[in-house]
Amino acid sequence: PVVTRFAPSPTGYLHIGGARTALFNWLYARGRGGRFLLRIEDTDRARSTPEATEAILKGLKWLGLDWDGEPISQFARKDRHAEVAHQMLAAGTAYKCFSTPEEIAVWRDANPRQPFQSPWRNATDLPDAPFAIRLKAPRTGETVIQDAVQGDVRVANDQLDDMVLLRSDGTPTYMLAVVVDDHDMGVTHVIRGDDHLTNTARQIQIYDAMGWPRPVFAHIPLIHGEDGKKLSKRHGAVGLHEFAALGYPASAMRNYLARLGWSHGDDELFDDDQAREWFDLPGIGRAPARLDFKKLEHVSSHHIGAMDDQALLKTLEDFLKETGAPALTERQRERLTLALPALKEKAKTLPALLDQARFALIDRPVEVDEKAARSLDTVSRGMLKSLTAALQHASWQRDELEQAAKTVADENGVGLGKIAGPLRAALAGRTATPSVFDMMTALGRDESLARLQDQTE
Ligand code: GLU
Repeated sequence: PVVTRFAPSPTGYLHIGGARTALFNWLYARGRGGRFLLRIEDTDRARSTPEATEAILKGLKWLGLDWDGEPISQFARKDRHAEVAHQMLAAGTAYKCFSTPEEIAVWRDANPRQPFQSPWRNATDLPDAPFAIRLKAPRTGETVIQDAVQGDVRVANDQLDDMVLLRSDGTPTYMLAVVVDDHDMGVTHVIRGDDHLTNTARQIQIYDAMGWPRPVFAHIPLIHGEDGKKLSKRHGAVGLHEFAALGYPASAMRNYLARLGWSHGDDELFDDDQAREWFDLPGIGRAPARLDFKKLEHVSSHHIGAMDDQALLKTLEDFLKETGAPALTERQRERLTLALPALKEKAKTLPALLDQARFALIDRPVEVDEKAARSLDTVSRGMLKSLTAALQHASWQRDELEQAAKTVADENGVGLGKIAGPLRAALAGRTATPSVFDMMTALGRDESLARLQDQTE
């Protein structure tokens, strides 16, 4: 069975690149009935914080990526890492190195651009002094990474030094910890950023020395900004939470991030079931994907439109909660729900939708802004009055509302547009609104007529 993992270092927030790595691993496992595990790489004690771990978990939850079991702390496994280093020592695949940092620096000065060669590699007469444990790596030949994305990547073994596995203070190195953890967790597929490719040759040497089967490696190209340069703060949003705050729904982010570096024919818009079914390693490209906000908006707009009203309402309420806005009242929820079918087809983001839905969230008396107030002259107030009278007994069907407005416009010798302006002002207090008939439908008879009356009395 497939086992994948996401292994973030808890030193900040969940970066969009990390979120994509997590998504790829999640899709790969979930599409194959496999397991998706989470390992917090918290061995850098100075830089790792519980707040960062919390932020990462929160980001994954927001994105809808559920993991199996409890998150594993790498730091908590340090004794196990040390145990493996000692096993390797006992097996002769590693050795004790007594070289001090000063001695290593002197060696490097004398042998510029050469990987360090420890004088202790084959020593038999060992002092009683602090030592590091180094891997007795092959000196000749090559280490070949058979990468599912990058193809065969070859590294000459004489370019790699005998890496330290356990430092003289007894702490494991990152390289050892990753391999031991991936092995013990039963990870079958390591999907991660290609910034880790150079580490992989070293990690493979550890697998081989332990006689452990290597997982499948898939190194995915990093995400670049619209200008083709490595993504950084300069490009705007880079944290997943920033995209959430901009109001892209999680389902849209999953769709968009899946397409950042992976493709399935010409399919751009898809749901989770399709993504799980389609996702595979051959579909991952070798060129860096570019973050493209236009495309993201397009995907977001599709997902907002495709959501059912209850799910969309929940998404909007969660979004509002994150912004610190007060919870919706029962009346606001009702009106918003009625407004959603017309609004969701056009909104690119959640705040854009909420802005269009503002008429449904406000209460009487509606405050009319300056621009909208200009359409409320004596003539138009008269028209609103006639319309109010005509609608007293209406059953509030859309066609009927439209017909009544047309009749009043005709009677006054003006086009429908001339009555739409004052209607907007009365119903929403501003000029940028959804269609007046959509607003009236969502507000219902009593509220709509009351808002009209407020402007005509
Ligand atoms: N902790 C590493 C990172 O955050 C990931 C290591 C891995 O996936 O093997 O970049």
